[in-house]
Amino acid sequence: MLRGVGGMNFSDNQIKTRLDQIYKKLERSSSSYLGYPCNADLNELMIFSRFLKFPINNVGDPFSNCSFKVNTRELEREVVDFFSKLYNLEDSWGYVTNGGTEGNLYGLFLGRETLGKNSILYYSADSHYSIIKLARLLNLNSVQIKSNENGEINYEDLSLRLKKNKNNPALILATIGTTMKGANDKIEKIQKICENALVSNYYIHVDAALGGMINPFLNNSPKFDFSFNIGSISVSGHKLIGSPIPCGIVLARKKLVNTLASKIEYLETLDTTISGSRNGFTVFFMWYYIKKYGEKWFREVAINCVEKCKHTVKKLNELGWTAWSNEYSNIVILEKPNSKLTEKWQLATQGNIAHIVVMRHTTKMMLDEFVQDLKNEIYLTGPIQTKSRKF
Ligand SMILES: *Cc1c(COP(=O)(O)O)cnc(C)c1O
Repeated sequence: MLRGVGGMNFSDNQIKTRLDQIYKKLERSSSSYLGYPCNADLNELMIFSRFLKFPINNVGDPFSNCSFKVNTRELEREVVDFFSKLYNLEDSWGYVTNGGTEGNLYGLFLGRETLGKNSILYYSADSHYSIIKLARLLNLNSVQIKSNENGEINYEDLSLRLKKNKNNPALILATIGTTMKGANDKIEKIQKICENALVSNYYIHVDAALGGMINPFLNNSPKFDFSFNIGSISVSGHKLIGSPIPCGIVLARKKLVNTLASKIEYLETLDTTISGSRNGFTVFFMWYYIKKYGEKWFREVAINCVEKCKHTVKKLNELGWTAWSNEYSNIVILEKPNSKLTEKWQLATQGNIAHIVVMRHTTKMMLDEFVQDLKNEIYLTGPIQTKSRKF
């Protein structure tokens, strides 16, 4: 007899009860969050449920041949192609990742391999929390650069640190849409600083997890594409692109990737990706939004989210509540409300600030309801004390 690990098997009824419970929880929680950048506008994706019966696996480099054919690599290449055009990458290579973090790992890995082991990673205090972990994983020497109050990297500090270490190649992590404040690091400035500091060599990886789908679509926003001397870009697929399953896209210059590639013989495919077996299912969702709606729609989504963000800032300020946003951003930064509200609306908080990430499913009605809740709380707890703008 098998040793009981999980006790008796569930009956069909028990399975149904448990699944009904979690279904209800998901239904409830997915209609009331404002603090996280996940897309919840998903009903039309039910057309892909029929593909669940295939063991889809996009193992290996999407541009090489593979003897395993149960994959969606032809769609994956179309996704890479779309983003290459969007970000001005001619010498194009990329793949669909498990998320923004994997894309950052890939970019930093490629950067380190390109620059050599004595390179130093520079990242700002407002970079995504995973960057410190990735630096440890890659055994990178790293330097944290100060950030400005709006969340953007501090260019003077970057310049100072680069000059101090100019004999070490510089691996720079720039962010388009910082996680908490939605700030954009200016690539043009960073590139100039690298050149003026006379560092022996440099590589810029752009973490555009969220801002990668906002910034390119707004007039006058600071550009970050491959027309600059950057090596790679990572974007999340479950944020503004809209996949219900976490995923992302990483793009890199093909000539850099080629130097990394090594053959795995038994699959007859190239081992250029972080994961071996790769999710081929998430490719459907990215591909679908690109092919059905395309660039024009992504532009409308971006403009609309930024507009709703500004609307919310205005409403909060009218209440006398401290709130602001970066110019090309869909993130409202506000003084942290009480826990009743942060829990009800699932707001992310950091110190004494909270933020709202305005996504395409976030309606003005939801945002106005949040403002109304805040107004009711103020009414209950008395007038607002004078709040400083400095967080
Ligand atoms: C969300 C985010 C990440 C991480 O992306 P995942 O897709 O959650 O792995 C990295 N950087 C920034 C700036 C982000 O907003």
